[in-house]
Amino acid sequence: MIYLDNAATTSPKPEIVIKEVNRALRHYSANPGRGGHSPSLAAAKAVFQTRSLVKDFFHASSEENVIFTSGCTHSLNTVIKGVLKQGDHVVISSLEHNAVLRPLYQLSQQGKIRYSIAKVTVGDDDATIDAFRSAINQHTRMLICTHASNVFGVRLPVERLCALAHSYGILFCLDAAQSAGVLDIDLAADGYDYVCCAGHKGLYGPAGIGLLLLNGGAPIAPLIEGGTGSESANLLMPDFYPDRLESGTLNIPGICGLGGGIRFIGQRGVNKIAEHEMRLIRMLYRNLSDTDRILLYTPQPDLSVSAPVLSFNIEGADSETVSEYLNRHGVAVRAGLHCAPTAHESMGTVDSGTVRIAPSVFTTEHDIRLLLNAVKNFIHSS
Ligand code: PLP
Repeated sequence: MIYLDNAATTSPKPEIVIKEVNRALRHYSANPGRGGHSPSLAAAKAVFQTRSLVKDFFHASSEENVIFTSGCTHSLNTVIKGVLKQGDHVVISSLEHNAVLRPLYQLSQQGKIRYSIAKVTVGDDDATIDAFRSAINQHTRMLICTHASNVFGVRLPVERLCALAHSYGILFCLDAAQSAGVLDIDLAADGYDYVCCAGHKGLYGPAGIGLLLLNGGAPIAPLIEGGTGSESANLLMPDFYPDRLESGTLNIPGICGLGGGIRFIGQRGVNKIAEHEMRLIRMLYRNLSDTDRILLYTPQPDLSVSAPVLSFNIEGADSETVSEYLNRHGVAVRAGLHCAPTAHESMGTVDSGTVRIAPSVFTTEHDIRLLLNAVKNFIHSS
């Protein structure tokens, strides 16, 4: 089976990730921060080592500002529910994932906050920034924006949007689920207040691990309360990070596996990985552009304007039917709305969904050729 659904989660995982998960299960099965004995200290050391790796990778200011979560959804919920207060207003892009849309919708239904959706104009960053600027009002407390669309690959001008937010004294939260590991993220240079990452996509970690990176911003109230191994006599959560946002026993295999993923990316180089994947996406785009009945939704992909993800449809065919056909012919892709309904509304694909292709560092030109053959066979047979 050729796996081209790496925007859902990367597969296969690098050998070093499997080794690190294995090592954690064999050697770090004590509870870090919960005991003075050697096994607990060894587990705590392993966790700290990954915290340090993450800090260096994203240029965070300290290990304390690296919070381990269960995934990007958890990180985004933590920021949205832990920072926003009654009466706050939020501006998001039209390409956001349900991990942003649903918590905001829920808070708005409860009458707590309001939010506006700024339309992204593909190929015109100035227009996108103007849409954000026009949506800001006196109650706007935060801008939340995906770095790159998990459906269409479109990159958003997040550095400029962060500067726009700060010029109004507004916080900026980056959803880096689709970009971490393929696009550079530098907290020190770019100044995002919060960065939310999935550990299991471009960072090549296992499922069930994510990151919330803090970079100043406003304090965050914990999403859940519980044991931290610190200040145990106090019924209030500690007021220092990472403990404040890390209740309960940590996912040590996930954390160690993520550490393996970050080492792997560090050795390969983020830019080299991105160039490799983008070369495959360009090859796919070129070939699909020359094929009858293919509908493409974005301009020619290029790393300056997009991440290596591509959506298409076949005229007259439902995206689910195409993906089922591809699955039967040995190619795994995802169809439908990809948890991003407003992104599809803005591209006019909300009824049909799209077929999404997302390569990884392990995808080859041969894989793309087999996909193209299968697509052409579908077209001839339907
Ligand atoms: N945000 C975007 C843009 C995503 O693509 C995803 C998942 O793929 C998420 C958030 C949620 O990430 P997770 O699966 O780690 O919760």
